[in-house]
Amino acid sequence: MYKYRTSGDKFVLSLDNHVEISAALAAFCEQLDIRCGAVYGIGAISEATFRFLDPATKGYVDKTFSEQMEITNLTGNISRKDGKPYLHLHLTCSRRDYTCVGGHLLTARINGACELVVERFSCEAGRRFDPETGLNLYDF
Ligand code: FE
Repeated sequence: MYKYRTSGDKFVLSLDNHVEISAALAAFCEQLDIRCGAVYGIGAISEATFRFLDPATKGYVDKTFSEQMEITNLTGNISRKDGKPYLHLHLTCSRRDYTCVGGHLLTARINGACELVVERFSCEAGRRFDPETGLNLYDF
């Protein structure tokens, strides 16, 4: 699913072609027991599903783009919720016509490569649902 190298508290991560990014990254965090951290990277994908939270209704609107795209930026953070890794990822990607789409990332399918840097922090960070915003906020 991935290969990696370790540099202190940072990891250079190469995800295998055709895997789903969120699942692979969660598996990596589980294996390395990364309980709080940050992630960023680039790559190429054939499909991405984003989620938009409408603050007025607190309802989610999901949208899938099924086309070849470059990841111009993936950035996010790593915490824990319900005993499992909790990833908060945002993705911007560019299309064949060089326009970009992006948002809060649910899933993305690699078609080419995905090269990430994961940073491990020494603190713990959990998540709790916040009814006011409808978000799973940091639980500090
Ligand atoms: Fe988000």
